[in-house]
Amino acid sequence: VETCINNIQANSKLGAFLEVYEDEARTRAREIDQKIASGTAGKLAGVVVGIKDVLCYRNHHLQAASRILDGFVSQFTATAVQRLLDEDAIIIGRQNCDEFAMGSSSENSAFGPVLNGADLSRVPGGSSGGSAVAVQMDMCHVSLGTDTGGSVRQPGAFCGVIGMKPTYSRISRWGLASYASSFDSIGILSKHLDDVATVLQVIAGPDEYDSTASQHAVEPYVDYLEHPLKPCKVAVLREGLEHPSVAPEIRQALRQQIDFLENAGHSVEIIDFPLLEYILPTYYILTTAEASANLARYDGVRYGYRSPDSDTLAALYKKSRSQGFGEEVQRRILLGTFVLSAGYYDAYYTKAQRVRRLIKEATEQMLTDHDFMLLPTTPTTAFRLNENTDDPLAMYLADLFTVQASVAGLPAISLPCGTDQEGLPIGIQLMANRFKEGELLAFSNYLL
Ligand code: GLN
Repeated sequence: VETCINNIQANSKLGAFLEVYEDEARTRAREIDQKIASGTAGKLAGVVVGIKDVLCYRNHHLQAASRILDGFVSQFTATAVQRLLDEDAIIIGRQNCDEFAMGSSSENSAFGPVLNGADLSRVPGGSSGGSAVAVQMDMCHVSLGTDTGGSVRQPGAFCGVIGMKPTYSRISRWGLASYASSFDSIGILSKHLDDVATVLQVIAGPDEYDSTASQHAVEPYVDYLEHPLKPCKVAVLREGLEHPSVAPEIRQALRQQIDFLENAGHSVEIIDFPLLEYILPTYYILTTAEASANLARYDGVRYGYRSPDSDTLAALYKKSRSQGFGEEVQRRILLGTFVLSAGYYDAYYTKAQRVRRLIKEATEQMLTDHDFMLLPTTPTTAFRLNENTDDPLAMYLADLFTVQASVAGLPAISLPCGTDQEGLPIGIQLMANRFKEGELLAFSNYLL
């Protein structure tokens, strides 16, 4: 705990944490020391965990990096966080992110951007940027982030750490401030695969508070790391090598993995995924629609920020929301309201739902024919601060390779894979079929 607190203080200019629970963490560490001495400590005794500012922790502030939640205090604890506490993990603080997890750079925060520890002029990725930087700079051992379209994997790649998103529904969403409920997944960031596996094993599984959490049995993920590996069939997305947006160094990193796998006797097949160009539009239509519904609850009446100078109820709603939400969140509420509106519902929302089904089926089929899909996590390494802030479409392109697993609801992991010429981390992504987290972790262990 002391080491983590020192690292947090030494790197405070990176903006990774919004709040640090120093005294609380110290007290808890002493309690856990005693449990260790008496042989009663849990599986995560002494593991220092940071949580993204979208996960509820009872009697602690939660803001989703937004002004609209000014002053809000959680009245309950997210299931995933509670399960960590039950196994004696130590929660060190809440981490900065894009407002309501909307973004790919952690620049959309009401508290200012997060900076990448590898190069302070670069973004750490987003939306779980604070969570990734906290692991990168050893401010905690593990972070819990959330991944709706890549928000754990992409910052993992930009910061040179592991970022895993399990199958949709594998981890309860109870206590997670919703962005797009049919996509939102809690994800895990760490430098060590066995920590990822242990934490997943602890937090996954059914939950009486979330009816969408899967009943599928939780497997002993840690044991998978010890399994000897059989020869595997790996599909490589052709666009990962050939798409014009992919930086040469990332292409090269992918080729090296292919050579390694072929030399080691695995079968590698370059595959086409003809629906690729439809994945981003489908994702942004459906997530903005869900966001516009989820964010309707922030009306200035029930929680957080309320505009002080309104004469009527309608003015109170309008002013509180206009002043409380940042620009990107407002853009998405407008877009989502538009695609759900009576005249456009069928043209956009219904059609996107149907395309989602096609993408899901084609991806699952591909992962029935192959054990894993290998692709870049991101087209480029970490971009510069402000580079994409005026161009939302360029920003959305950063998600080109991460949204497929999200649209299909499948598990995926980003693994650090060296650096480019400027010393910026490169990430390689593996995707597997539904509930194949164990196999995914075992294969990741092999590649790392
Ligand atoms: N960058 C994507 C978005 O803005 C993903 C965000 C996320 O996964 N939370 O929607």
